[in-house]
Amino acid sequence: MRVRDGAEYRSGLNDGRRVLIDGEPVADVTTHPAFRNAVASFARFYDLQADPANRERLTFEVGGARVHKAWSIPRSHAELVDRRRAIAESAALHCGFLGRSPDHLATTLTGMMIGLPVMAGFDAARAEAFAAYFEQVRARDLFVTYVIQNPQADKTRAASEQARDVVAHVVSQDREGIVVSGAKMLGTSAVMADEIFVGTIQPVRPGEERYALSFAVPVNHPGVRLLSRRSYEQGATSGYDYPLSSHFDENDAVLFFDEVRVPWERVFVCGNVAAAAAQWHGTPAHVMQNYQSQIRLMVKMRFLTGLARRIVEINGTIEVPQVRGMLGKLAAQASLVEGLVAGMEAEGRMIGDYYVPSAHLLYAAQTLTQELYPLFVMAIRDLAGGGVIMLPSSVADMTSLHTRDYVEATQVSSIVDAEERVRTMKLAWDALGSEYASRHTQYEMFYGGASYVNHAHMLRTFDWEAARALVAGVLPPPLAMPR
Ligand SMILES: Cc1cc2nc3c(=O)[nH]c(=O)nc-3n(C[C@H](O)[C@H](O)[C@H](O)COP(=O)(O)OP(=O)(O)OC[C@H]3O[C@@H](n4cnc5c(N)ncnc54)[C@H](O)[C@@H]3O)c2cc1C
Repeated sequence: MRVRDGAEYRSGLNDGRRVLIDGEPVADVTTHPAFRNAVASFARFYDLQADPANRERLTFEVGGARVHKAWSIPRSHAELVDRRRAIAESAALHCGFLGRSPDHLATTLTGMMIGLPVMAGFDAARAEAFAAYFEQVRARDLFVTYVIQNPQADKTRAASEQARDVVAHVVSQDREGIVVSGAKMLGTSAVMADEIFVGTIQPVRPGEERYALSFAVPVNHPGVRLLSRRSYEQGATSGYDYPLSSHFDENDAVLFFDEVRVPWERVFVCGNVAAAAAQWHGTPAHVMQNYQSQIRLMVKMRFLTGLARRIVEINGTIEVPQVRGMLGKLAAQASLVEGLVAGMEAEGRMIGDYYVPSAHLLYAAQTLTQELYPLFVMAIRDLAGGGVIMLPSSVADMTSLHTRDYVEATQVSSIVDAEERVRTMKLAWDALGSEYASRHTQYEMFYGGASYVNHAHMLRTFDWEAARALVAGVLPPPLAMPR
């Protein structure tokens, strides 16, 4: 049975999409030096699932095809755990450094399918359109990414009050569909995805209905422009010097919609402020998408913990009690994420026929890990010391007759040779300190919303009644106060 592989994915990308970088349009993202290796990494994601040795574990059968298990709609705790194992195995391919891998949106859209009755309550036709869209993209195992946040602009002003009409909005509508103009903040992986899903997760004020919208278009849809940030892949001088930047720079692009026509079959919310919010929080979409992110983060923190241990082994500090203590703490923090993922699953609940992870444990994980990640990275940098800087200028130094003997003479360890020390420390710098690593810190701090947003979700979903009951239970009875 057909399983989407890397070749099929790549063949769809040279489709006339309008990507702009360094002042120029990109002719083909699969060959452009800013994107080609990231495309190859996503192709490996599909090749991994297409490998007959992995198919049973990573894919399942639906509508005449086998697709990634992230598209499966879990009906029980066991099914949720099974799809988590597939997501974690796929994330091991990139050690959790591809935040918007195809399984991310597959999980989001699965959450929206579970909540379809909620959306049908607002508008049956739009909910039907979404269900049909879901079936289409799932049957083809497409790579969907999303833009759901507005450009920053002036935070004191509503969307309609900005100095320019910057936020994506509905310009007009007719029997065929809607016309959309304006921007969305960032689409991670959009440059190399098949489809862009657009949503409105920020609250929209009554009267600003034209900003309350959700739709999906192919990345190459007429009028869609992708304004890429600086490419760390292109900036990486070699795979040896920057093993992560060079291969796992998934890119982030500002999305600009220039009078984009969207047919009604692809419009899921139009002009309904309550429906735009409910798409994320009335359905389990937001919980599901961030649950996938925590699974990915669990893999990334496992990788970083392994890296920390290797650094201190190479530096010979592994027996220092404080270093051992710090390694233990890092392992505990990585395990905390693992425990939260298992907890979300164990404490999940049924919505209709489907089983979804616990919302309050998910938001606890979101709140804690966006704060933890920068501290975690800093702790490993503290363990690494200057070894991540005391490095040859580039891979050329490793073989040049001018430099190689000096590299041998200075890159010393009791357990590895100079070459392995250099290779490991370069990997460490790319994971912890390079421009790419710094973007990752920003990503982990913000991909799921700023901290004040997650605090509000935690406040909303925590079982305050149970907590209040405990307080009430031990409160001494009131005194009869003399009047
Ligand atoms: C690397 C990266 C990749 C991203 N990828 C995507 C993507 O694929 N798709 C997508 O849709 N979005 C993406 N985003 C955007 C992301 O969703 C937003 O950055 C995030 O929601 C935070 O919004 P903001 O950037 O507007 O920050 P803000 O909301 O402006 O917050 C920034 C800071 O301002 C302060 N602040 C602002 N308002 C308040 C307030 N009301 N109360 C208290 N403090 C406040 C806080 O200190 C806060 O930390 C990405 C962001 C990054 C950094």
